[in-house]
Amino acid sequence: MRKKIVAGNWKMNKNLQEGIELAKELNEALAAEKPNCDVVICTPFIHLAKVSDIINHEVIGLGAENCADKEKGAFTGEVSAEMVKSTGAEYVILGHSERREYYNETPEILKEKVLLALANGLKVIFCIGESLEQREANQQNEVVKAELEGSVFNLSEEQFANIVIAYEPIWAIGTGKTATSDQAEEIHAYIRSVIADKYGKEVAENTSILYGGSCKASNAPELFAKPDIDGGLIGGASLKCADFKGIIDAWK
Ligand code: PEP
Repeated sequence: MRKKIVAGNWKMNKNLQEGIELAKELNEALAAEKPNCDVVICTPFIHLAKVSDIINHEVIGLGAENCADKEKGAFTGEVSAEMVKSTGAEYVILGHSERREYYNETPEILKEKVLLALANGLKVIFCIGESLEQREANQQNEVVKAELEGSVFNLSEEQFANIVIAYEPIWAIGTGKTATSDQAEEIHAYIRSVIADKYGKEVAENTSILYGGSCKASNAPELFAKPDIDGGLIGGASLKCADFKGIIDAWK
């Protein structure tokens, strides 16, 4: 049975003290009321080690928002997958549209990052999704298929078991525009069928596919009720404990 997951992506928000506060609040809220799904928080690099010490890892998984495409060495300012793992983190987000767009992360670069993350024992939340222009031209299926083929379909079946897919239509990220639950379900089912064509039905059935894009407590129950939506990757609404917990509670 595939996992239901609600993962937060803090992006470049929260200084260290604010991040610690949020992690403590969430840890306490989930200790008081056990979630019905896996919960992950993905934080800026600077928070990882401290947050790792604060959270109960049996209830909250920890992830980074990126890692380097090189193993180690003279790459000033970069943070390797091994370094991320050494903080106690278990996950890393890769392929987010903001990194593809603003930092020119190509499918080849992402392929390297994915391999290094997996080699260092991290699970990868791999983001895919089309732009508004591509959606309007009805190209969303081709886009997500090409993104999978470009960076994760080189993996063995064993490696692919450590990949969580996050479908994030770019036009819905941070815009307040959410894909309708029917739109999201349609493409999630398509993504699962593409995975089944590559790795077989069993692997596809075991792959968690999260929806991301202006997901909040008010729309999460309808989205998560769809058979191929296994949870969410949450940006803005992961920055306040009550908002994030509201989405986690959609699984109740
Ligand atoms: C994201 O960027 O991963 C995201 C889903 O953002 P938001 O929830 O703010 O749309």
